[in-house]
Amino acid sequence: MTVIRQQDLIESVADALQYISYYHPKDFIQAMNQAYEREENPAARDAIAQILINSRMCATGHRPICQDTGIVTVFVHVGMDVRWEAELSLDEMINEGVRQAYNHPDNVLRASILADPDGARRNTKDNTPAIIHHKLVPGDKLEIHVAAKGGGSEAKTKFAMLNPSDSVVDWVLEQVPKMGAGWCPPGMLGIGIGGTAEKAMELAKESLLDPIDIQELQARGASNRAEELRLELFDKVNRLGIGAQGLGGLTTVLDIKVKDYPTHAANKPVAIIPNCAATRHVHFTLDGSGPARLPAPDIDDWPEITWEAGEGVKRVDLDSITAEEVASWKPGDTLLLSGKLLTGRDAAHKRMVEMLERDEPLPVDLTGRFIYYVGPVDPVKGEVVGPAGPTTATRMDKFTRAILERAGLLGMVGKAERGPVAIEAIKDNGAVYLMAVGGAAYLVAQAIKASRVLAFEDLGMEAIYEFEVEDMPVTVAVDSLGDSVHQSGPAKWKELIARR
Ligand code: SF4
Repeated sequence: MTVIRQQDLIESVADALQYISYYHPKDFIQAMNQAYEREENPAARDAIAQILINSRMCATGHRPICQDTGIVTVFVHVGMDVRWEAELSLDEMINEGVRQAYNHPDNVLRASILADPDGARRNTKDNTPAIIHHKLVPGDKLEIHVAAKGGGSEAKTKFAMLNPSDSVVDWVLEQVPKMGAGWCPPGMLGIGIGGTAEKAMELAKESLLDPIDIQELQARGASNRAEELRLELFDKVNRLGIGAQGLGGLTTVLDIKVKDYPTHAANKPVAIIPNCAATRHVHFTLDGSGPARLPAPDIDDWPEITWEAGEGVKRVDLDSITAEEVASWKPGDTLLLSGKLLTGRDAAHKRMVEMLERDEPLPVDLTGRFIYYVGPVDPVKGEVVGPAGPTTATRMDKFTRAILERAGLLGMVGKAERGPVAIEAIKDNGAVYLMAVGGAAYLVAQAIKASRVLAFEDLGMEAIYEFEVEDMPVTVAVDSLGDSVHQSGPAKWKELIARR
């Protein structure tokens, strides 16, 4: 009979979370590199290059791949012959591992979990509690899969209770374009079919833990319905032309996973859960011999890619920027930003708009300034700021008109597409929306040379900071006329792919 010690489990979970915060799985790097090599849209290829360079930097620097270090999700299979030398419950041990990992002094991870989700939304400060799925299985070992799931990709989850005669393929192809780019493609789609509503969701999430192996499946052929669906959907989703970061291109998904389960005769529940550019998971086994040891990967597993601003790149001085200069930019232009850049995201925007509604002065003058939608990781060891990639801009759409019209903001930097409400406001005000690459947070942070809090310090990572940036690479996503690269790019590439 195996005896599992409390400290071994806590240490293993903590080590696993640190490990996945800076090491992408090898299969993911290989698949991303293949996507890089075959991509023909220069903007999408450029975005994938930044994701790969960022990944290599994180592997060597032991800092998080993305500023969103995720919500911890654990699948634990407990052998029925396991005995415990523990005072805490299984969930308490796992959560203690989370606590220690997210507060590790050498690599602090961002605490993103809020208690009272429809009320005060208080940060629990240590990223607990994890979402834990348990299964009792035969045997005397503890099998654990640990993942850290980004909020942007989780937000794009879809579920439907289809009629038994409805087509899963048609439904998935209808949903994926609606998911936009907030899930930071290219990544994976996990699809759960069958069971009940909650079972389909669990299947979709669990399927994302499998390694990327679509090419093996293509080579050997499908042997069941789930595999047939994987092959069909992999081809058809990529033919949508959405591409990296929604810019249009050949690769939207690196793999599609499908898990199914028997269901009621009246039902066909289906769930889609995407996994993003920050795909993070690892598996380990405890057999009573001590904590899990996770071998460091070989850095040669990462391609050596260099990124250089191509010809035609525009250098922008944010400290002297004018509306006329903004009006000269076109969707797809690459810019290198230097100067003072404000930050702000959901909570700061909500608070500022409430102040504007009460005719109160804002704590920061936004006239002619740019705001970067970001919630950075805390710095360690002399860093100016921790990884600081963009968050999904779409969430700020409802605040955009007020901030542009009443506070005089000139531009915004974020990730993913803007909705019609924000695009109209941008057009009406001659403003601009720029995008940085989601999932390249450590790379982006290298462009930040100084940082100070200007307002709303109580909001923690959601406070308003002022960054001093130097050559921060961004792409014009919505120009001052309201033309969006997230509309034109995928439409163009869908057509180009269809002609092949
Ligand atoms: S890669 Fe994108 S979706 Fe994934 S965690 Fe980072 S910001 Fe969120």
